[in-house]
Amino acid sequence: MNCRQFQLRMSEFLDGDLIGKPLTECREHLRKCAVCQRIFESCRDTIARFRRDAAGACPLPAALHDKVMHTIQSRRNSSRPASRP
Ligand SMILES: [Zn+2]
Repeated sequence: MNCRQFQLRMSEFLDGDLIGKPLTECREHLRKCAVCQRIFESCRDTIARFRRDAAGACPLPAALHDKVMHTIQSRRNSSRPASRP
């Protein structure tokens, strides 16, 4: 496998979709090739960051988060009672 072939496969590799021979070849290439290692790591980090954000990691400081939640809660309580199905 060369760099171009690796890079074509990289998204599948990152997603864990590769199995068998292509997976072995990708791992092998990654171990030997510093260029692809750098590309791979930067893609992996970017994806990890997006996944963290998408998973709802709270970027607010805890104190602010509590205050916001408290405000929401008290507004909800002060308005008409929640009608639950
Ligand atoms: Zn390479």
